[in-house]
Amino acid sequence: MLFEEMGLSPEILRGIEDLGFEKATPIQEKVIPFLLEKDRDLIGLAQTGTGKTAAFGLPKLERIEISLNKPQLVILSPTRELCLQITRDLENFGKYLDGLRIVPVYGGADISKQISSLKQGAHVVVATPGRIHDLVRRNRIDLSSVSTVVMDEADEMLKMGFREDLDAILAVTPATKNTLLFSATMSSEISAITGNYMNNPAEIVVGQKNSGAENVSHIYHMVHARDRYEALKRVVDFYPDMYAIVFCRTRQETKDVAAQLMRDGYNADALHGDLSQAQRDFVMKKFREKTLSVLVGTDVAARGLDVNNLTHVINYNLPDDLEVYTHRSGRTGRAGKEGMAISIINMKERGHIAQIEKFIKKKILFSQVPTGKEICERRLFDMIERMKNTQVDDTQMNLYIDKAYSMLEDLPKEEIIKRFVSVEFSRFLDYYKNSPDLTAGHTDHKDMNDGHRKKGRSMARIVVNIGKGKMMTKRSLIQLVSGVPGARDVEIGLIEIYRRASSIEVDSRMAKTIIKGVTGMNYGGIRIEAEENYEFTGDTSGQRKRERNDKGRDYGKRKDDKFNSGHKYSQKKRGKR
Ligand code: AMP
Repeated sequence: MLFEEMGLSPEILRGIEDLGFEKATPIQEKVIPFLLEKDRDLIGLAQTGTGKTAAFGLPKLERIEISLNKPQLVILSPTRELCLQITRDLENFGKYLDGLRIVPVYGGADISKQISSLKQGAHVVVATPGRIHDLVRRNRIDLSSVSTVVMDEADEMLKMGFREDLDAILAVTPATKNTLLFSATMSSEISAITGNYMNNPAEIVVGQKNSGAENVSHIYHMVHARDRYEALKRVVDFYPDMYAIVFCRTRQETKDVAAQLMRDGYNADALHGDLSQAQRDFVMKKFREKTLSVLVGTDVAARGLDVNNLTHVINYNLPDDLEVYTHRSGRTGRAGKEGMAISIINMKERGHIAQIEKFIKKKILFSQVPTGKEICERRLFDMIERMKNTQVDDTQMNLYIDKAYSMLEDLPKEEIIKRFVSVEFSRFLDYYKNSPDLTAGHTDHKDMNDGHRKKGRSMARIVVNIGKGKMMTKRSLIQLVSGVPGARDVEIGLIEIYRRASSIEVDSRMAKTIIKGVTGMNYGGIRIEAEENYEFTGDTSGQRKRERNDKGRDYGKRKDDKFNSGHKYSQKKRGKR
């Protein structure tokens, strides 16, 4: 649904247009028309990052009477960072509402400055509950004209002990106001608030209650404890545009990991409780501006961190608390973008993964730690893609290009390409030369799925026409398959990458959908062709029974092509264990 279709004013629509929002998110589609039409209380159950702020902010800004110089909209949020983020968002939405004043008030900052900001006039107050309660007690804020109170991330506010403050604020604001409550989870404490203070609220649910965010895929790498840091580096190297938070368990670990990453040349820094507010602000500013691409932090330090569009969340250690896993992974995959939660675990933590899977009701896929070769291939591929897509500024280039041509005229084209690639790429090639495989324990995807096979599930083998020669990797193949609509959590079995083709076993019930989904996709400029090859049926002893389909087996085969190499590879691995 487009914002233009919702009945928002031209001023607000201009603000949204400047932000580049094209269409409404699911919660916005539901909440905006509802709030524009009705003055009714509302409970919104949605994960963070679903576009909640605009969902309540846009329609509620429409209701502000600028000529009435008093707070009319109060938004309560758990942390200073979130307050500032909401303030920034609302300022952007209301950029063209002449005279609109939005004032944030939060703990840990000079209250007298906040009091004088309020005195200068505020239509909207965005507050942490403790601070606004303090202002009420000091009689420094006039809440008599408040028509809406929004409790954002209500579950977090309760967890942080703001119950009394919330009660107090809801009690002192006019009885005629609307109350909106947003929360990722519904607990008995939240029900108590809604029961006490809300009047016949409507309930809007986006996504599944208490589940991991929709667009997040979850994987884990299993390593020996001593290889944890090395595995982290591989993960960071494997994703060229990574913008991520790495979660650690303790302050010390946070400091150590960040220091090592910085020493190893990454744009990383640490966020932990030993930093002063000014240092903390500085780190967060750098991260927000993307001068840092990796932020290493503890859960407490990263709480309320106002950063969106993370590509990855990395659990350097798994959290003890299942809910914390949900919170961490909820920081990626926001606003319809794909995100990935990657956990680095040791063998003892396998059971914990199973518990988390149960809690988030999603599968966490085992994935091998990227090998040095995979990283180099991926980086190279990415660099070439970027080079192909680079816009050339001819006017600027023409000033230098003749000189460049003459300096390079003695070198053949192949040599020029090799050398340019080496200049960019030698760091990876050198570092990963002869690097070991870090995956511990089960080294093959099929093993992780034997459990499912034992339940008698049949797997189908799909073959695609792209192999090692065109830079196909196991990981890319998994990504291709799980990117097919409806196949995100499909069970995956043995994967084999040959020179000119690759194969992947998937739950046979999904085979047709996956074949249809990947056929015709573009992989590095080549059209993907996929077909079912031969059937695999698991049995209770875990033995493999295969019916060969010779037609399929010949897929992409040439006389000089050792098509069976993938098979040998997997047997070699099996032998090693
Ligand atoms: P929120 O859940 O309000 O914190 O929003 C998460 C992120 O999504 C913020 O960076 C918003 O600016 C962005 N966002 C919200 N709505 C949209 C939309 N309709 N289209 C694109 N981005 C959006």
